[in-house]
Amino acid sequence: MEIKVLKDILGANDQMARNNQQLLDKHNVFAVNLMASPGAGKTSLVLETIKALQGKVRVGVIEGDISSTFDSELIAGQGVPVVQINTGGECHLDASMICNALDNLPLADIDLLLVENVGNLVCPAEFNLGEHCKVVVASVPEGDDKPIKYPAMFLIANAVVLNKTDLLPYVKFDSDRFREAVRGVNRKLDIFEVSCTTGDGIDRWVSWLLSQMGRK
Ligand code: MG
Ligand code: ZN
Repeated sequence: MEIKVLKDILGANDQMARNNQQLLDKHNVFAVNLMASPGAGKTSLVLETIKALQGKVRVGVIEGDISSTFDSELIAGQGVPVVQINTGGECHLDASMICNALDNLPLADIDLLLVENVGNLVCPAEFNLGEHCKVVVASVPEGDDKPIKYPAMFLIANAVVLNKTDLLPYVKFDSDRFREAVRGVNRKLDIFEVSCTTGDGIDRWVSWLLSQMGRK
């Protein structure tokens, strides 16, 4: 019974996600779903990506948080169109929330839509939003065993960004062990090591994004 209810919910969500993707395609918008645990640096990655693409690609942002508008204020400060979704307790974004947000974005003026999901490594993996690619953001202080503990997220992703590499000298984190753990779950994942603090590695991440958009 409960399993059937969950299937119905996810089925309705998938239908809505397909509608979202049709709308995005109509306006030539490439959408990326950024997922991570709280504090991995999703917003910092969004900000660094906006800066790196300035003058090349028009970026728009959807910020998902349980509450607050801190992150969307930071994004708006970059002069980029942004919609904040406050889920009011829900620990993930779903396709209907994205549908509402798309109504409030100037899609004709956006090439790349970065969707920052709610900080959570579990259920965002279950909910398609209509995005064209899914990216997991991990970070050095979280430890090198994240892919083993949260395999579902790494299984469905197209790429992993490992953030906060500037902390590697101070934290017990084995990059080879992390890479092995990622490959153990999903051999096809591209892995990008970056530091949003120093800017290291952002160029490789951004050129991958551009190649996904068919722009390179
Ligand atoms: Mg954030
Ligand atoms: Zn959830």
